[in-house]
Amino acid sequence: PPPPPPPPPPPPPPPPPFSSRRRHTRWRLVSRGLGDVYKRQMQDQLTSVQELARTDSLTGLWNRRTFDESFDIEWNRHLRTSDQLGVLVIDVDFFKTFNDRFGHQAGDECLKAVGQALSGCSRRSGEMIARYGGEEFAVILPNCNLPAAMKMGEAVRDKVESLAIEHPDTGFGYVTVSVGAAVMTPDGNNKPDHLFELADTALYQAKQTGRNRVSNLVLPSKDEK
Ligand code: GH3
Ligand code: MG
Ligand code: MG
Repeated sequence: PPPPPPPPPPPPPPPPPFSSRRRHTRWRLVSRGLGDVYKRQMQDQLTSVQELARTDSLTGLWNRRTFDESFDIEWNRHLRTSDQLGVLVIDVDFFKTFNDRFGHQAGDECLKAVGQALSGCSRRSGEMIARYGGEEFAVILPNCNLPAAMKMGEAVRDKVESLAIEHPDTGFGYVTVSVGAAVMTPDGNNKPDHLFELADTALYQAKQTGRNRVSNLVLPSKDEK
């Protein structure tokens, strides 16, 4: 957990009696200096509060709000450049059973480990990994085609499996994730939500077809239709 914010600075001392012009000038310099220190401390506190509001406290990853904001920004950027935008939706398999068997605390530790594993898979700048909620994570893949999105999805799946966190109820013996991948060239007929829904539907397919796998859905670009 981040350290608690520093206590507020003490109030400035009362103004000095204006017995001499020199003392008055010195006081003005000191109080201006105090003001700068105070401003800087306030700015630092504000930055850390803003940072907290953007991250997920359990995993340290970006939170859903930050993900949604960035996804909109990336969508609009890709709309201008006509590049493909990819997204992964990642869900821990049979996580309820994991909690039931090992307890909520162990479940939290597991989510932290999975979050760390996801971070370790990011290779390209601009990728954004978030905890989307519960045992679900999401990744934004800028300028990404389907093979690259699938490769990242497979890297994530493999990395989590190789953590080898015991989970006897999955059929695999370890904690695994299912991944839905989707890629789209944004155009005016679509919205970021459509791309996310595509990835979510792909995730559903991955669950239906056995879990611990990556499925994908692609919306063909205008030229390919
Ligand atoms: P599936 O393979 O279909 O995804 O099954 P599942 O059991 O993972 O999915 P389900 O939606 O039934 O259960 C999700 C569980 O995740 C239930 C909930 O208690 C647990 N969970 C969500 N957030 C947290 C959390 O922050 N900590 C812990 N320990 N558990 C969480
Ligand atoms: Mg889920
Ligand atoms: Mg799940």
